[in-house]
Amino acid sequence: MLLDDLAGAARVLFVHAHPDDETLQTGALIAELTARGVRCDLVTATRGERGEIVPGPLSGLTGDAFVARRETELAGAVAALGITERAYLGEPPARAAGQPPRRYADSGMRWIREGLAGPSGDAGPDSFTAADPAEEVADLVAAIEYFRPDALISYDDDGSYGHPDHVRVHEISGPAAARAGVPVLWVVSDPAGAGEWSDLAHRLPTVVAAARCHASQVSVVESADPRAAEVIHSGGQRTPLATRIGLRR
Ligand SMILES: [Zn+2]
Repeated sequence: MLLDDLAGAARVLFVHAHPDDETLQTGALIAELTARGVRCDLVTATRGERGEIVPGPLSGLTGDAFVARRETELAGAVAALGITERAYLGEPPARAAGQPPRRYADSGMRWIREGLAGPSGDAGPDSFTAADPAEEVADLVAAIEYFRPDALISYDDDGSYGHPDHVRVHEISGPAAARAGVPVLWVVSDPAGAGEWSDLAHRLPTVVAAARCHASQVSVVESADPRAAEVIHSGGQRTPLATRIGLRR
């Protein structure tokens, strides 16, 4: 079983697109692995500069102040989940040797239909999806060589809900893992999709604690059921806080 294989690993590297994805997409898996003694590290491609802020006390944040907020939120979630070390793609140790550090900016998205995102149409020249994929692959290889994971975990080709940055993370993860000689496991996007599914609802309290760190992006709503909680996104959409995670090779 994939989860047991992972739990027998010494180190696992998660690759995500934005701060909050580590929690909303794979928080229960990270919590499970760290509780079982697996070292989990994280590479985040962007700082989520185009994330929409939930209405409330943080909604006035813009520019550098918003970016700083997202960085702080990510640091909090990383601590809550038990992640050992994290890096942004484009900065050491997730930067190819000899290259000056750079930032890959959030590409933005727009909803094509409920639950499916597509390109925003106005992603800037410094955006993650506008950059050369070969440069991003080289940066991710550098991260893999630094963290020396036994497995890489990334999005499947649907990129969880189609966000262009998630899809790009998928596109660079395969080549980078292959070049570094590390197996990759894909997080299954479709809740009904083929894969090995693990019910990790017992990790919900840890996921809730991590999700609360991302207060600019989601509000957490706990329920009477201790194995279920929801998050409310900036647009008011409510989604369950995922604790059932599918993986495939
Ligand atoms: Zn994301």
